[in-house]
Amino acid sequence: MVIGAGQAGLAASFHLRRRGIDHVVLDADDAPGGAWQHRWDSLSMHDVHGVADLPDSTAPTTDDPHARANVVVPAYFADYERRHDLPVVRPVRVDRVEPDPEPGSDLLVVHAGDRTWRTRTLVNATGTWTRPFVPHYPGQESFAGRQLHTVDFPGPEHFTGQRVLVVGGGASAVQFLGELAPVTDTLWVTRRPPVWRTGDFDPGAGLAAVTLVEERVRAGLPPASVVSVTGLMLRPQEQRAAELGAYERHPMFERIEPHGVRWADGHFEPVDVILWATGFRPAVTHLAPLDLTSEHGGIQLLPVRGNVQGATTAARDRRVQLVGYGPSASTIGASRAGRQAALAVQRCLDSTPAERP
Ligand code: FAD
Repeated sequence: MVIGAGQAGLAASFHLRRRGIDHVVLDADDAPGGAWQHRWDSLSMHDVHGVADLPDSTAPTTDDPHARANVVVPAYFADYERRHDLPVVRPVRVDRVEPDPEPGSDLLVVHAGDRTWRTRTLVNATGTWTRPFVPHYPGQESFAGRQLHTVDFPGPEHFTGQRVLVVGGGASAVQFLGELAPVTDTLWVTRRPPVWRTGDFDPGAGLAAVTLVEERVRAGLPPASVVSVTGLMLRPQEQRAAELGAYERHPMFERIEPHGVRWADGHFEPVDVILWATGFRPAVTHLAPLDLTSEHGGIQLLPVRGNVQGATTAARDRRVQLVGYGPSASTIGASRAGRQAALAVQRCLDSTPAERP
């Protein structure tokens, strides 16, 4: 069984099928496309530097700088599912996965509403989109204006005439400011000074980030983001916002008040809207009954025995693989992890519980 039909789940399904492993892919969305179908309209293929190829296919390229990622990528995934006849069932949102309570059973039970599946192994590929992260600041509940997260960004025209505080130091925050500053008053706060990049993305930095996150998950620590290390760049369409001073970053405030935010030195800025571009956490709460979390707060992952690359196997339950998680939470990582996971599933099916790799 695979849960999730984004890049990671489709790659896993492809490799399971190639190995002749009978499986089903349960996906919560109404349509193909994983999280890409939900991303905001102004996110272009140019912004995301394209997506990695799914196995045995070539991802679409486009010269159109405005080609919408939330259209192009879902169309690619839909075509891929069809061409490879992948066994995706949707919409099915898995609520929880637990060990089969039947005495002597070595199966996992997957619950989705009133439907139930029993499976020998599980590849979890549920991404992060459904778990937006908003940090907590004192006074947050008292804020009289509107608070929203990246997942809710409706487009800049909804904020005309309002003062918008954008929180977060990633590419999403930079893009939101670029769109908002020409139509409304903005203010930008980040925890750390932003890291600007002037040239091309440095693949060495990307590899270093993946290695670091791989080390974290092998140690059972909560994963960090591998896609946040690309460095920030201003695109031509953000020059106007730059001229307006939108990228003059301020440090984090100390508290939120009904009509604005206040810093530790007493300085106050009135705002109408707080836009939290503060990232995501892995969407794995449905796995809680399996008790996979280590004492270090993350799900510890191990590589397949005899295979040093790419850890996907949950140390606490080797029937479970996680793809698109931690070091593989990028389009390229997700595609690769699908192959590792299928290998691990094969090894698990070929072994008894006592010999499990
Ligand atoms: P998703 O695409 O999120 O797919 C998960 C699937 O699981 C969805 O279809 C969902 O319906 C399903 N699902 C979730 N929960 C359940 C459940 N309980 N039951 C059943 N189904 C469920 N990566 C890059 O390489 N380059 C980029 O430029 C880039 N930009 C990004 C920008 C943003 C804003 C974000 C959030 C991520 C970005 N990433 C980028 C990361 C990248 O998109 C993903 O890591 C990659 O696409 C792998 O996705 P996935 O398959 O793990 O998850």
